[in-house]
Amino acid sequence: TTTAPELTVEGLSVHYGGVCAVRDLSFSVPAGEAIGVIGANGAGKTSTLKAVMGLVPRRVAALRFGDTDLSRVPARMMVRHGIGYVPEGRHVFAGLSVEKNLMLGAYARKWNAPTRATMAEVYELFPVLGEMRGRLAGALSGGQQQMLAIGRALMSRPRLLLLDEPSMGLSPKLVEDILAVLVRLRAEGLSLLLVEQNAKLTFEATSSCLVVENGEVAMTGTSAQLRHDPQVRRIYLGL
Ligand code: ATP
Repeated sequence: TTTAPELTVEGLSVHYGGVCAVRDLSFSVPAGEAIGVIGANGAGKTSTLKAVMGLVPRRVAALRFGDTDLSRVPARMMVRHGIGYVPEGRHVFAGLSVEKNLMLGAYARKWNAPTRATMAEVYELFPVLGEMRGRLAGALSGGQQQMLAIGRALMSRPRLLLLDEPSMGLSPKLVEDILAVLVRLRAEGLSLLLVEQNAKLTFEATSSCLVVENGEVAMTGTSAQLRHDPQVRRIYLGL
């Protein structure tokens, strides 16, 4: 596996009418690293990911993936530049089979042997999806739908994966399963940008994190530092 390029975000802002959700945010996802974004409800985490993807109106001073300028790339073209996105709330196509959902994730690729090999890899990563390949996605459990949403994003063979709250609504056991998958993907050279309210999952899956408050970076640090920081523990871990 070759390591993904670095994602550089400089001066990112998002306004919804008069509400400023993201204020002049700058960060990077170094090659092959996993970076977490934590913060309370409404801090601007989801807006940050959507703005990187170009899914909400934004201002950005610089947005690059390696040498590629992404600042004018529309959201639907981001997969062609190696960026995968797993939205909050999964958004699988409930009326389509598991396999059709995965095929849709490969919409920017030809349906050929390498693409079928990616599907086999996804089934190997998530055996339950293989067992249920003919089932309607809407009939899957929440955890299985989350796996499907991740698998679908992997079908484009991204080099950077943006994940919005993959642990939401899942049992502790399934959160552990998702964590194991993220650790494995990272070991395979995929870069990750992980938005989470589950700080424990984030600290275990990432090497460093931004703590976002009111659309701004309140704190940054390595995940090992932040998980022991008294303020972070009080606010985000309820300790
Ligand atoms: P959550 O964990 O609840 O998703 P978050 O940290 O991801 O929270 P955002 O969803 O990015 O935060 O929201 C940031 C701010 O922007 C909040 O004050 C929210 O109410 C506001 N906001 C988000 N989406 C919209 C929208 N479409 N229109 C208006 N305001 C919005």
